[in-house]
Amino acid sequence: MKTSLHRTLAILAIGWTAATWAAEPAKLPKLVDLGADKCIPCKTMAPILEGLKKEYAGKFDVEFIDVWKNPAPGKQYKIKLIPTQIFFDASGKEVFRHEGFFGKEDILAKWKELGVDVTGGTATAGIVRETPVAADARPRESVCFMCDENVNPKLRTVVKGQSEQRILCGPHCYFIYLSSIVGADSKAEEAKVSVTDWASGSLVPATTAHYLYGMDAKGRPTIQAFADKAAATKQQQSSPGNLLGWDVLRSKEMATRCAFCDRAVYPEDACGVKFGTTHGHGCCTHCSMGVAARLKQDIEVEAKDGLTGELIRVKTLDGQIASLEPATAVAWFGQKKGADGKWVSAGCFKQGFFVNEANLQKWLEARPAMTGRQITIAQALADKMKLTPEQIAKACKLGECQ
Ligand SMILES: [Zn+2]
Ligand SMILES: [Zn+2]
Repeated sequence: MKTSLHRTLAILAIGWTAATWAAEPAKLPKLVDLGADKCIPCKTMAPILEGLKKEYAGKFDVEFIDVWKNPAPGKQYKIKLIPTQIFFDASGKEVFRHEGFFGKEDILAKWKELGVDVTGGTATAGIVRETPVAADARPRESVCFMCDENVNPKLRTVVKGQSEQRILCGPHCYFIYLSSIVGADSKAEEAKVSVTDWASGSLVPATTAHYLYGMDAKGRPTIQAFADKAAATKQQQSSPGNLLGWDVLRSKEMATRCAFCDRAVYPEDACGVKFGTTHGHGCCTHCSMGVAARLKQDIEVEAKDGLTGELIRVKTLDGQIASLEPATAVAWFGQKKGADGKWVSAGCFKQGFFVNEANLQKWLEARPAMTGRQITIAQALADKMKLTPEQIAKACKLGECQ
């Protein structure tokens, strides 16, 4: 069957009359993707378009035009780059166009915005969990404000606010917190922090404590705080490490930062991100994709499967996925419902990549309170690539996470 775009082109080219239209059966809205089968972002879009075509048959039509093999439509529509997606309403009128990679979620959101019913797609769009399987019943004081892990009472770190206090699982999460505050005045912030004295269990000002800085089996730093230096020295005999004051601890903790959101991060917890000849870090899998957006450079990411630690390698080219190993890898977009009912990111600690959907499923089973949805790695990248420099500057900052 000839498609409405072909018809539209034919009308423009040879001047068909309106009568021709009247004889046609009822039309559907239509998405036309103008690209080339050898362009990398177009290749990434091809399976998405194929999927949409099947899944939303009867709701909207999908057509791909290879403008390298067939340049006329590209000229006709005055496209500036490939891929370009043009959305037509049921009457054949262009209602929206987008340039560059456009993910499945974005395409469906656009149709919805344009008033097209896209409910009830037939194929599964991956795992979606809008309501927790089990509510998080832990008391708030026992959960870290930043990472959501259980707080060991011996490491409890407290930040006093105007009216409330924030409980953190240890000094490391405090430095993540500090690096997440927009325009933080570090001296003023530090005056609000207390750490737990390992020896007595009572809170002491963080800036005056002595820190025993050791290392766990994975090479990840461990930090124990002491009010009294003699007690720290004694502990050092059974638990090796260096004794540090607050200023040195801060400079060590703040030395490695996320190349996207600038949060403090331990390399052991981070994704490796290579850009040019530089090796940096993404504090979470989604931040690692964001490095391409922030630096406007191609990146190579080594992420670990959230369940098994298996490596997932992603390379980008011009802000699109150039290669993905393994090809079955999927992403989890941890989200929570905001006060206004809109879904927002649940933050860096709730994101992950997995070598396949089965691993994601197992990871979710162990996290009954988690909400969010499965997305493609391409979508995780696309979500970052569409951010403005202003949004990137505020990325992952407290109260700014989107
Ligand atoms: Zn924490
Ligand atoms: Zn980050």
